[in-house]
Amino acid sequence: MLPIKFLNIHRQDRRVHKEILNKISNSIKKNKFILTNEVKEFEKEFADFCGTKFAIGVGNGTDALYIALKSLGLKKNDEVIVPAMTWKSTIVSVSNCGLRPILVDINKDNSNIDLENLKKKITKKTRAIIVVHLYGNPAESNEIKKIIKNKNIKIIEDAAQAHGAKDLILKKKIGSIGDLACFSFFPGKNLGAYGDAGCITTNYKKYYKKAISLRNIGNYNNRNKSDCNVVGINSRMDTIQSIVLSIKLKTINELNQKRIKIAANYNKNINNKNIKKLNYSIGSVYHQYVIKTKKRNNLIKKLKKNKIEYGIHYATSINKLRFYKNTFKELSFPNAEDLAAKCISLPIDPYLSKREQNKIINILNNFK
Ligand SMILES: *Cc1c(COP(=O)(O)O)cnc(C)c1O
Repeated sequence: MLPIKFLNIHRQDRRVHKEILNKISNSIKKNKFILTNEVKEFEKEFADFCGTKFAIGVGNGTDALYIALKSLGLKKNDEVIVPAMTWKSTIVSVSNCGLRPILVDINKDNSNIDLENLKKKITKKTRAIIVVHLYGNPAESNEIKKIIKNKNIKIIEDAAQAHGAKDLILKKKIGSIGDLACFSFFPGKNLGAYGDAGCITTNYKKYYKKAISLRNIGNYNNRNKSDCNVVGINSRMDTIQSIVLSIKLKTINELNQKRIKIAANYNKNINNKNIKKLNYSIGSVYHQYVIKTKKRNNLIKKLKKNKIEYGIHYATSINKLRFYKNTFKELSFPNAEDLAAKCISLPIDPYLSKREQNKIINILNNFK
């Protein structure tokens, strides 16, 4: 019995493997490695892909969030809203900027930020909301925009799990909805590099210029290298990663379509009263296919016995992270905590065969 893998990155990339190695080989012969034309080309391609004017390649998705927040020019202790279920990078970047994270519970059906809870958490000090498109499922941005209308609150999208997703209400690509958006190209994301990489997209020249400086130790154009106009960091996208990403970008729509098809099969055929499926909207790209069950331990045993890999995204809600526990101890986030206790991510590798999918469905449907 061959194991069913959660994700098989090499299988996804097989067709472009040679092209990637050739282009890297040609590039390193030029003796230029940092902020090269290859990086600029990828930035242009990724901005086009998202439908934004600008894209800024950075070291990883966590830095993208830090730099995007810094670009807003907020004051110490200004409040930034973060959903209570996300990857920890979202909240950590708020803290690293000296800003105050305010948690909002998630919606129990779609696992994105809950609109009613959001309304209650907005104060006079709220300056930004980080809208996370969790699992590749677009958050309700149209409603969020209505809630903050005329309030001087900026939106940063955390699009680390949503490359290529669409908001069909706003008729926009994810990454072009907020004031700035942040992407991660961690290898396991829908678009992944061969190491760490990330990107910020925006339509605003002022944020673009600030972010370009921030990623390069305060240097806007490389002409006067020793100068510094903001307190930046060193978080530049590697040339090698930009080459990998330019080539893989040509395949992402096709790979996303394959994920969408697998998800449709799961949506239609998983039927078990012990399992709750999440509501994904039509523009989702299914970075993860997550279900909830009270009997997670039993299900895990069954999956292990059948050699089916699985994931848990995530086992801890943000308010329960050890570092933040005291900060949020008076508050409760029942939906985020419930998801943490019950969630399990099924394999959704784009090349998962029909037979593998049906085996997974069978096991889920027969589990008590
Ligand atoms: C992966 C991820 C990040 C961080 O990206 P890195 O490239 O790993 O630093 C941030 N937010 C979310 C929601 C993510 O899934």
